[in-house]
Amino acid sequence: MDITHTKELFDSKEFEVAYHTDLPLGSFCGREGTLFRLWAPTAQNVVLRLYPAGHGGQPKEILHPVKGEKGTWHCETARNLDGWYYDYAVTVDGRVYETNDPWAKSCGLNGKRSMVLDLKRTDPPGWELDKAPAPTEEQVIWELHVRDFSWDAAGGFEPADRGLFRALTKTGTTLYRNGKHPTGLDYMKRLGVTHVQLLPIYDYGSVDEKHPEAAYNWGYDPVNYNVPEGSYSSDPYRGEVRVRELKDMVAALHKNGFRVIMDVVYNHTYNLECSLFKTVPWYFFRQTSQGKPSNGSGCGNDVASERSMCGRYILESALYWIEEYHLDGFRFDLMGLMDDGLMNKLQKALDEKYGPGEKLVYGEPWRAADTHARPGTRLCDKESLLHIDSKIGAFNDDTRDAVKGSVMREDSVGFVNGGTIRAEVLGKCLTGWVAPNGANQTPYQNITYLSCHDDWTLWDKLVYTMDPSKHFLGSDPKLLKANRLAAAINFCCQGRPFFLSGEEFGRTKGGIKNSYCSSSEVNQLDWTRAWENRELVDYYRGLIALRKQLPAFADKSAEARNRLLFTKDLAPNCAGAALDNHGNSPWKILLVVFNCSDTPCPVNLPEGKWQLLCDGDSSFRWQQHIPLESRCTAQPGSALILGKMN
Ligand code: CA
Repeated sequence: MDITHTKELFDSKEFEVAYHTDLPLGSFCGREGTLFRLWAPTAQNVVLRLYPAGHGGQPKEILHPVKGEKGTWHCETARNLDGWYYDYAVTVDGRVYETNDPWAKSCGLNGKRSMVLDLKRTDPPGWELDKAPAPTEEQVIWELHVRDFSWDAAGGFEPADRGLFRALTKTGTTLYRNGKHPTGLDYMKRLGVTHVQLLPIYDYGSVDEKHPEAAYNWGYDPVNYNVPEGSYSSDPYRGEVRVRELKDMVAALHKNGFRVIMDVVYNHTYNLECSLFKTVPWYFFRQTSQGKPSNGSGCGNDVASERSMCGRYILESALYWIEEYHLDGFRFDLMGLMDDGLMNKLQKALDEKYGPGEKLVYGEPWRAADTHARPGTRLCDKESLLHIDSKIGAFNDDTRDAVKGSVMREDSVGFVNGGTIRAEVLGKCLTGWVAPNGANQTPYQNITYLSCHDDWTLWDKLVYTMDPSKHFLGSDPKLLKANRLAAAINFCCQGRPFFLSGEEFGRTKGGIKNSYCSSSEVNQLDWTRAWENRELVDYYRGLIALRKQLPAFADKSAEARNRLLFTKDLAPNCAGAALDNHGNSPWKILLVVFNCSDTPCPVNLPEGKWQLLCDGDSSFRWQQHIPLESRCTAQPGSALILGKMN
């Protein structure tokens, strides 16, 4: 097959009709025996090799799958091969590709060999009773990398747990094991977030599982889509361990009150030396008209989600994670590379199976560059948000950039760090950029955030724009104040609030913008800093607790934008707004003022009994029941949230 013709062939309806199948694919074992089935419609020959171990040694046995219907190859044996490892030698156009099984559920060291696994035996005790915590009206999402969580020795984790799934199962850890200052799960519980979004936990390629400490990576380099990453397990050699330990982790997070979101990277693979490529060369990947890999991901290749078997693969994989690991939703990396048909199908399948909106789906509504999808494909980018399932959400770069400045330039500023706040833009942020102001149908679609793993942390951005000495490890009161103001604005935006773990304690990566392969020390959560900046943590804690009581911000309906009664420029670089807060709350009307200037701004209150809920120093003022007279003052560089009593 001429490689430049594969694009046309694989995009064609004829190919889809001839080879699309819904037959189960992968390996399946039980008392009745074991079945292997691979989809390889362009192969001339397929050989299956069985190994007793996940790495090293020669095959113990060779099997010869036969060609079945719709381009599938299968073989069966009466033996239960649970615990065996395998790979394929697939011949296409005379070339032999040695590959693992893209449909496999576990694997050996570094994902080179697939594993036949009876998943039942990986279930921890009580797994059938595991349940996510009850749904909450507000969803506050905290983004976390498994290793970052427990790498810092000061965090007081068991040395054998550091960097692993296991660290997320333990309560009772404290800073320097002093018994006083909670770290880990206890810290998270105190913070009040409802959802943990984990950076990639599927098997990725950039960290050698044999020597995980030798490298660090975020993990946006998928190798086995349906297998947990081995470097987060206590034994990457035995494929059942990573599966069981991930389940343990999910159960522990659920038990401690958190729902778990998985970051999925179906838009590209680590490289083309992967099973999806080797089993059906080029089918799962978009090509340019010259036959080169499309590169809209900026990572060397783009997965062709619009092709029917590729769409099946992604849909099945996502549903598998939810079902087998009890996960609660997905964050789609570069969702702007996926076709919207697939995203709609996924949301629909999840809604039908688990109830509408029970499982979250949101992603990045952009891509790194143009992609070469089949002509006529509609991609799930910002422009699509008005047309896709209104339960699919997207990260909002408009609020992010308005508050703290663009991610493209370190000296670019926003409301809180030298820019100018304007009532008109503030109003759009507050109402979640719902149409006609933006691309969202409802605030539900709006992931409102200031920082995530990409780009500078909020703290580092503040240092770049406000601290001439560039002292990243410092705790300058001026910066802490700007951080509080920024957070207050974000938590007053309709949408689903999201933040990078550690944003709440001024997390720094020493000014590094893209730390995807920086050291563990650069990336880790610095638990000492979390303690030192505990007042900032408390400010976030108060905002989260307050947010849960404010329907004006938490309302996800299409009508939520009508809650904005007015916005007003109150003084140079100081803007405010009033919102209708009817619903389950003691306060009928809210008044918010964000004073980004250096001078105090007097605020005249409309008639009624007003209460101070939050100011620049404390976000727990609402606990103090402080009545206000007809006037109050928004202090320089501070937020003010006031509530009118019912
Ligand atoms: Ca791996």
